[in-house]
Amino acid sequence: MTTKTKTVITLLPGDGIGPEVVGGAVRAIEATGAEIEWETRDAGAGAIPKHGAPLPEATLESIRRTRLCLKGPLATPIGGGYSSVNVALRREFDLFANVRPARTFAGLPGRYDKVDLVVVRENTQGEYSGIEHYIDPSRSAAEAISIITRHGCDRIVRFAFEYARANGRKRVTLVHKANILKMTSGLFLQVGREIARGYGDIEFADIIVDNCAMQLVRDPSRFDIIVTTNLFGDILSDLTAGLVGGLGLVAGANIGEEAAIFEAVHGTAPDIAGRGIANPTAAMLAGAAMLERLGQRERGMRLEGAIRKVVAAGRDLTPDLGGQGTTGAFTDRVVEALQS
Ligand code: NAD
Repeated sequence: MTTKTKTVITLLPGDGIGPEVVGGAVRAIEATGAEIEWETRDAGAGAIPKHGAPLPEATLESIRRTRLCLKGPLATPIGGGYSSVNVALRREFDLFANVRPARTFAGLPGRYDKVDLVVVRENTQGEYSGIEHYIDPSRSAAEAISIITRHGCDRIVRFAFEYARANGRKRVTLVHKANILKMTSGLFLQVGREIARGYGDIEFADIIVDNCAMQLVRDPSRFDIIVTTNLFGDILSDLTAGLVGGLGLVAGANIGEEAAIFEAVHGTAPDIAGRGIANPTAAMLAGAAMLERLGQRERGMRLEGAIRKVVAAGRDLTPDLGGQGTTGAFTDRVVEALQS
């Protein structure tokens, strides 16, 4: 008798609507036929009463071992000296690449019909290096240090080009502000240009961030892959999410050498938590990206196709998309689409 080995994946349902949307994502992922053993662990504000910390050691140990994680949104407790749990996870596993695709959903009203781009954001450096302080006790001024290393630039730009090749993309646009931030953004641009020479099969362009924001709003079809530093990527990836219908519809992958964590981009939505009406689309798309990373590209593409089919048909859409459906009913439709 042969026994199939299941892939073990760490599952962090998270806070607020997290358990609802992640529950929907798990059902949809399993409906693709993927053989997965979920190792469910606590994280976020909900972990504190039981473990005394938002990121318990048992959770970190699980991710260290499985190297793959699907997570729901995590609330960072306000006060009490906790820093962002999401930032802590990125640091712990050196998840240097944040990949956020934005693609138009047929059937949903939007400004553009054909947005199809990916923001590749450096996830660990720049203004988010976590080094800032007030200069005196009266807090008359504050300063922050932005760290950009050649190694950090090299690996994120290379990642963007490799991602472009692996996904049949044609153009990488590097976004910077080297005219003002001559050394930090300047180094990113210089390293980017050097690396681009090794990828003659992919078109390369660079653009200043403010112009990029304007061009994205006017004509997003100019862009294919955008690669940029931490702060610019954070802002531009929300802009591109807005171009395709908002944060409830986009997923993000946080990728490092040792681990990868997949998540919906939205937060814990405390205003609707527990009501069964949260939209699980973003969590499901995170699951689809995770399947691709697992080498199960066909299953990932089928899952994304099923979600898009249900959204286009307008069946049991949740209230944020103008429907009257529930998380459970929408998930049922996606599962049916996968089985049909
Ligand atoms: P939010 O994304 O939780 O909510 C913003 C609005 O969008 C709310 O009206 C909410 O109801 C709606 N919304 C979000 N996701 C939805 C979904 N799937 N279906 C339907 N509606 C949805 O942002 P916020 O209110 O600024 O943040 C709330 C909490 O989430 C904070 O504690 C924040 O720290 C945390 N957060 C976590 C993550 C993460 O873990 N990746 C990301 C952002 C915010």
